Amino acid sequence: MEKIVNLAKRRGFAFQSSEIYGGLASCWDYGPIGVELKRNVKEAWWRDMVTRRADIVGIDCSILMHPRVWEASGHVAGFTDPLVDCKLCKERFRADKLMDAQCPRKPSKHPGECEGELTEARQFNLMFKTFMGPVEDTASVVFLRPETAQGIFVNFLNVLHTSRQKIPFGIAQIGKSFRNEITPGNFLFRTREFEQMEMEFFVRPGEDERWYEYWREERLNWYTRYGIRRENLRLREHAPEELAHYAKACVDVEYHFPFGWSELEGIANRTDFDLRRHAEYSGKDLSYYDEETKERFYPYVIEPAAGADRATLAFLVDAYDEDVADGEPRVVLRFHPRIAPVKVAVFPLLRKEGHPERALEIVDILRQHFTVQYDQSGSIGRRYRRQDEIGTPFGVTVDHQTLQDNTVTLRDRDTMRQERISVERLVEELKRRIEI
Ligand code: ATP
Repeated sequence: MEKIVNLAKRRGFAFQSSEIYGGLASCWDYGPIGVELKRNVKEAWWRDMVTRRADIVGIDCSILMHPRVWEASGHVAGFTDPLVDCKLCKERFRADKLMDAQCPRKPSKHPGECEGELTEARQFNLMFKTFMGPVEDTASVVFLRPETAQGIFVNFLNVLHTSRQKIPFGIAQIGKSFRNEITPGNFLFRTREFEQMEMEFFVRPGEDERWYEYWREERLNWYTRYGIRRENLRLREHAPEELAHYAKACVDVEYHFPFGWSELEGIANRTDFDLRRHAEYSGKDLSYYDEETKERFYPYVIEPAAGADRATLAFLVDAYDEDVADGEPRVVLRFHPRIAPVKVAVFPLLRKEGHPERALEIVDILRQHFTVQYDQSGSIGRRYRRQDEIGTPFGVTVDHQTLQDNTVTLRDRDTMRQERISVERLVEELKRRIEI
């Protein structure tokens, strides 16, 4: 993990937030390479969950919502983690995760195993509060949303009436969520501000189990489709006592992170809990009328809820590799071409004889289609290494022959094979290889 964090900082994937002021714990800023990586993860999700499907539409809701939303959803009363304080060092820990935490004074021990006595556990609500308008009184308290899902539920009727969808159908959203986590950490894995990719799929009661099975498989396969190794993924079904009160079933897609198997995404059968609760609290009828069967009912909901940052971290960890290239050790990120932050790098073989000029012309052509980097400094081997380290799948080199017959060499990051290809065919060939 340390290697990944160092590489992330050195190559511009992610920086500590407010670093020049000493940093803000567990908040991260994505740098120029990281922002492309995360965008690609989100775009792959959106394309597969919305663009390519006739039965799912998107939405983008505001982060601030009516406070009653969080009463109806159960977050005000129940979105809590048990918290304990150490009476000696004054640190706070999640009572249910003590075995994952270190005593700050004696790192070889877990909290409570040292001389420090822990307080009784008390429930701590994870929602961030803020004030709306200029008056800071209780009437103006609003919350930063702790999940994107509720925006979807409260817009169920709006989407239904404007999109002409019929059950079964889904509503998808990507956006920021906030949780005042007691013990954030592990780089991008658990932060207090993060992005979620959530989809609520509304189905007829009785068909929920079939759709739950469908989304479990679909979502697991999504990660392997973009290059995550199957052996690093597993599905973990929640035991009945672990289930949220509204859920009929829940499964986590877990990834084998360097710190152990941990949740990447949760897929839950939320039953009709959310729509019924919002109907009750808002006084609006949120039921669905089936024109064909002339029945009115509250749909059940299957929810695949993923984290964009956790997924980005998983893609980064899974891509990381060290091997030997041209007799030299190299660090290489083996991103799937669609996920790779930079798709192609262009190198002039020499810094003279017209190579840079021709290379820059090629950059201009490629830039209309892909994220491109141009690099003319250092030996060609070193330039390849620099690109391998950020996972650029393709390298284009301009040499003497380019000026004669308009061909370049195209290098593949993984096989390191090079082949000559005419500049006219370059865009089409790269598109073909990226689309795989
Ligand atoms: P955990 O058990 O790890 O706290 P959760 O079960 O509370 O997660 P959900 O409420 O199911 O998480 O949220 C769906 C997804 O949102 C998670 O699978 C994860 O990818 C992401 N997520 C949740 N909390 C965080 C966080 N603090 N930082 C980054 N991503 C998060």
